[in-house]
Amino acid sequence: MKIYGLTSEASFILPSIETLSIDDLLDDTATVKGAVLHYTHSNKGKLHHWVQRIRQHPHPRIYLMPLALIYETEKPPASLQKQFDECVSASQLVSASTTKSALFERVAQWLERVPNLDKDTADSSIPFKILRLMASRNKRLEPILTPHNNNGFVYPAIEGLFERNDDSPKNSLDFLHKQQFLGREFFKRAHFCPTCDGAFLNFIETCTDCGAENLKKEELVHHFKCGHVDNLSNFERNNQLVCPKCDERLKHIGVDYDKPSVVYQCRQCTLQFQDPVLKVQCYSCESEANIDDVNVADIYAYELSAIGLNAALYGLDALFTSILQTDLQLYSHREFKSFIHIEKARIGRYKKSTSCVATIYFENLDSIFHRLGKRTEQLFKEISAVFKSVFRESDVISALNESVFIILMTETSEENANLALNRLKTAIQDLFAANLAAKLSVGILTRVHRIDSESDLNLMLENALKVNHK
Ligand SMILES: [Zn+2]
Ligand SMILES: [Zn+2]
Ligand SMILES: [Zn+2]
Repeated sequence: MKIYGLTSEASFILPSIETLSIDDLLDDTATVKGAVLHYTHSNKGKLHHWVQRIRQHPHPRIYLMPLALIYETEKPPASLQKQFDECVSASQLVSASTTKSALFERVAQWLERVPNLDKDTADSSIPFKILRLMASRNKRLEPILTPHNNNGFVYPAIEGLFERNDDSPKNSLDFLHKQQFLGREFFKRAHFCPTCDGAFLNFIETCTDCGAENLKKEELVHHFKCGHVDNLSNFERNNQLVCPKCDERLKHIGVDYDKPSVVYQCRQCTLQFQDPVLKVQCYSCESEANIDDVNVADIYAYELSAIGLNAALYGLDALFTSILQTDLQLYSHREFKSFIHIEKARIGRYKKSTSCVATIYFENLDSIFHRLGKRTEQLFKEISAVFKSVFRESDVISALNESVFIILMTETSEENANLALNRLKTAIQDLFAANLAAKLSVGILTRVHRIDSESDLNLMLENALKVNHK
């Protein structure tokens, strides 16, 4: 596994780092382990684009690769640094080589846990890529404030996944949070333009009567002794404060006088008032709005949930199968076929045994996911426990896909197989009833096929999906 260097300078040489072009890097899904990008005065502008090309690649080995930013004398701006997993100076990298070991190993180890990583893998869903980026780093996703996009904030670690500087990152994170894949924590409350969602707003105080912006703001002075209250400017005389009513000099605030509040005077209509009308104007779209119409929204930092971690490894829909896999032993389709083959031969030879194949089909299992969010995992665990209690160790269980299961029940009559399946069905339907709203029903279709020398597994599976459920 190799670590590559990307630079536009011929003189960029680091021990054990081979430099190559971005196109070569994107082609190497077999041996690439990570990349070190060189920050120089001349390629500053290219770096974000390089990060985008890497993070927007569909292959997990490419878009998940650890990226380090290396600089010589001039330090890169924070907004760029945070798009990288690490930022080190060239001298640091040579001496400590921390970047090369810890981070690069951690991501490589996580990638080893991803099933079927190299089988024509292409991850096209951006939310899924976010989950994988977060899971492979095991890091919180934090926003930073920025003047460079309309929202006023950005999540630099996932910025490269997106083509444009718009709302998409926020929307993807919202979606993942609603699905319970991400937990979130309050980061900041901010005000946004009701027209364009822009964060850059000018808060304007206006006249309560004529709406003008040109106001004069002044402090009020209260003379304790005579009780006179007036604008500060009316007390000012030759750099001293003198009461316009009683002509006494005011020396000490708190002793002679106080300043109870401020007043505004409109320079257009001369009206004086205490509370001006607050308005906002957006710097981006120039529209004006009343302060009450401004959108106030919270910005969050995000963290992967246990269910998100699982989805990052197995995909967004393979959760049920992965839980069953942990709790029960699931055989592959091929292994299952050879078990059937052996069973057919055995039954043909001894003519005494009866064995059955049961098929179970869950209709719209994925809807549970959308409805239950993080409770899904618990429910799936409970269903898995039902499977465990109904089937015996000698039964062979295989998953055709996320919702179709086939079970070889050895030495079991059709009658007993049906009894077992009915027990399973009742128990699972009870679980659904306890966990799901009535309007969301998950159908379970079951069927039992007795094995004889004529049994055809493909036919059984075809029939599994045709049964009318009661
Ligand atoms: Zn006015
Ligand atoms: Zn006075
Ligand atoms: Zn606006």
